[in-house]
Amino acid sequence: MREGIHPKYYQAKVVCNCGNEFVTGSTKEDIHVEICSKCHSFYTGQQKAAKARGRIDKFNRKYGMNQN
Ligand SMILES: [Zn+2]
Repeated sequence: MREGIHPKYYQAKVVCNCGNEFVTGSTKEDIHVEICSKCHSFYTGQQKAAKARGRIDKFNRKYGMNQN
């Protein structure tokens, strides 16, 4: 490793759109990402789950299942 040619290296805090935060080595102090390695594999599944929940809410409203 030669000295002087590397930019300053931070322990960067990475904030993802999914709310996950993690620390990684980077030349930037703060990083914002849309998809991180943690949520990438189930990102699609989460969206599907949210859609399904919306459909259930609609169903419940339509048939009055939410009213006691
Ligand atoms: Zn994420």
